[in-house]
Amino acid sequence: MAGGGSADDASGDAAVIWRVAGALVLLVLALAIAQRLFVRPPATPQPDATRAIVAAAAPPGPPPPGCQTDPGFAAASGANAATSANAPWSVFGRPENGWQVYVPWIAHDLGVGCPPDSQAFAAALAAWQHAHGMAASGAMDEPTLRAFDLAWLRRRPFVAASGHGQCPAPPPPSGLVAIAPAEGYLGQLAQLRPGTLAAYRRMVAAARAESPAIAADPKLLTIFSGYRDPAADAVDCAAKHDCATPARAGTCSAHRTGLAMDIYLGSAPGYPPESSDDANRLYESRTPAYLWLVANAGRFGFVNYAFEPWHWEWTGEPP
Ligand SMILES: [Zn+2]
Repeated sequence: MAGGGSADDASGDAAVIWRVAGALVLLVLALAIAQRLFVRPPATPQPDATRAIVAAAAPPGPPPPGCQTDPGFAAASGANAATSANAPWSVFGRPENGWQVYVPWIAHDLGVGCPPDSQAFAAALAAWQHAHGMAASGAMDEPTLRAFDLAWLRRRPFVAASGHGQCPAPPPPSGLVAIAPAEGYLGQLAQLRPGTLAAYRRMVAAARAESPAIAADPKLLTIFSGYRDPAADAVDCAAKHDCATPARAGTCSAHRTGLAMDIYLGSAPGYPPESSDDANRLYESRTPAYLWLVANAGRFGFVNYAFEPWHWEWTGEPP
């Protein structure tokens, strides 16, 4: 092209620059991809991930009709909206933030199908407070949450049997049976008393028949811990330095009785099912499996340790 040399040179220089820039962009992209492929994510989810988990687990949609028809409890419902997600209470043996994890049991005991920030929930809570000799404000506070905890503890025969320095003796090996492989979470093994296992099987059959969400996932309600030998439990918690946590209840665990089991309900992304991190407990407390158990496990003789959504005890035999 006549007279176009300098223009061609200039466009040639530009092409080189663009090729170098393109190569650099590709290099950066390749490094970013390699980072994602080969660098392990952090073991503990970051705060952003935790917030996303909690947001995803939030109950969707507006409250059912009839939940906001008691304007006398507008202020109490506003207070409950705030404290349920943010209150520095320490009812269950360690500091927590709010009481959302316990909403399924509180709503169950109140007999109310409305969310915790609703006027109907506050009105039902006021009636419960009055019946339990407390100021009937309709607003959750630390003494009221403590009264709920006490009511839940009283439903567990193991708690009565293990107070005042006592601890139930474990059953003899002949008093335990193995669960079927399909009943263990990811196929793992566990042992229970025969009565516990029979009641568990009746409960799971009912859950799968009554809840399509539970029936859709065979992993749900499988067992990830049953009977635990007290000596092995003591060694394990000593190794993990957590013998004194609420979950361990010292060295006298309900798992020594053959009546207690940990049941898979689903777990927050990045967490194992037995994680007592607040984000995981909140996630599990909102799963269809847990909500079904809160409503129905009593029919089969099971009670829950409310701090751990996954932990259930059979009450058909003394500990
Ligand atoms: Zn447990």
